[in-house]
Amino acid sequence: MQKDEVAIVKIEDIGVDGEGIGKVDGYTLFVKDAIIGDEAEVKVIKAKKNYGYARLMRIITPSEYRVEPKCAYARQCGGCQIQEMSYERQLEFKAKKVRDNLERIGGFDATLLECVTEPIVGMDEPFHYRNKAQFPFGTDKDGQPICGFYAGRTHHIIANTDCALGVEINQEILEQILAFMKEYHVQAYDEKTGRGLLRHVLLRYGFATKEIMVCLVVNGKKIPHAEELVRRLAQIEGMTSITFSPNTKRTNVIMGESFEVLWGQGYITDSIGGVNYRISPLSFYQVNPVQTEKLYAKALEYADLQGGETVWDLYCGIGTISLFLAREAKMVYGVEVVEQAVKDARENARQNGIENVEFYTGRAEDVLPRYYKKDARATWDDMGKAHPDVIVVDPPRKGCEESLLETMAQMQPERIVYVSCNPATLARDLKYLCERGYELKKVGAVDQFPMGVHVEVVCLLSKLKFDKHIDVELGWTN
Ligand code: SAH
Repeated sequence: MQKDEVAIVKIEDIGVDGEGIGKVDGYTLFVKDAIIGDEAEVKVIKAKKNYGYARLMRIITPSEYRVEPKCAYARQCGGCQIQEMSYERQLEFKAKKVRDNLERIGGFDATLLECVTEPIVGMDEPFHYRNKAQFPFGTDKDGQPICGFYAGRTHHIIANTDCALGVEINQEILEQILAFMKEYHVQAYDEKTGRGLLRHVLLRYGFATKEIMVCLVVNGKKIPHAEELVRRLAQIEGMTSITFSPNTKRTNVIMGESFEVLWGQGYITDSIGGVNYRISPLSFYQVNPVQTEKLYAKALEYADLQGGETVWDLYCGIGTISLFLAREAKMVYGVEVVEQAVKDARENARQNGIENVEFYTGRAEDVLPRYYKKDARATWDDMGKAHPDVIVVDPPRKGCEESLLETMAQMQPERIVYVSCNPATLARDLKYLCERGYELKKVGAVDQFPMGVHVEVVCLLSKLKFDKHIDVELGWTN
């Protein structure tokens, strides 16, 4: 097929980013916004030899899974990818995505996967679930400030203060900020020129505490008339923390490296499953608290703690999982690379009166090997660290470094609990571990991102019980 060619296609599959996939005379087309079961008229926008990308022009026969989107910008906005798909179908798509990755990349057998996989856990109310939102600021063609979301794969801002995924109070906050910008002539940042002041605003909401955080990301060192902005925002019920984060770099990274308090405190608190957490603007915190509780409960269940265990929690963020684990283990060691998050983690442990937990700042792949000492110089304390009963990992999308996986396998914990936000790297890492003495026991997906294509998965790996004979054969005796 050629660019600009128009065709009628029946969508028969769904791609990793939620796009529809169909064939025209054997030629595969990827069609954004089309859903399995749609019959649609599409226009080719990019044609490769064996496949191409097409734009959805008109739906001829809608799929039985197609629903009316809640948000008027669902199609353009990059925030949601599959809002026009029924929620049940979204869950099926995600469960399949996990299964496919484990099969194709992980090399796991389909029958095994069927045995070990639990049903995906969805939400009863799949909207307004996000406790965090980052809105970019821009300027419309009339020179007026706007804020909203980037259109898919671009930095074009779609003005919208009423996002269906965020909490409803966000709209009032955003409207206040925009009104302030207009009145005091505070310019939005312009990526192309590097000029203008306000880049983004980060909003956070504690679902349990109803505390609100506003952090403005600014291309400079201060905000003119900040006292007036603060006066207005502080009147909003629940407002707890107003801060700004300077970011003068010409980069896609949203937040600056530090932040300053304008009003209130530099953090909000929230609680999940009876543990209280302090969250600052720069710390990672799971965005969907309702599902996070289910996710952590699953991680805890898989860890199967009886009270006497030593546990490592790698990529621990502000200690969310660590504190959950600590309540049922003898000792938990957390590792996190962001210093501020580690400070929060320690404070969180203190505030919850949890003493059997210790946090280390650094990269997991550097910290863990340090405690895996085979030589006799190890102290008793380090021996415990070198031979944990359980290791929990929750890496970012790129997964774990191979050197870390190697150390984990050498440490031979009874169980490894892998929490993942990317089934592809999860599958790769599980394959590595399963080639080094572990077996896949459980797979549980939890939908943390309804309307989006991401999915969170928890897996349980158990140490294989070898007999001596196999050990020798594989050369794993030392
Ligand atoms: N377990 C936490 C955080 C998971 S997100 C929770 O559930 O809230 C992943 C975390 O890994 C982030 O906090 C990120 O800062 C951290 N991180 C990224 N690379 C890392 C590395 N190489 N070593 C340790 N932590 C890392």
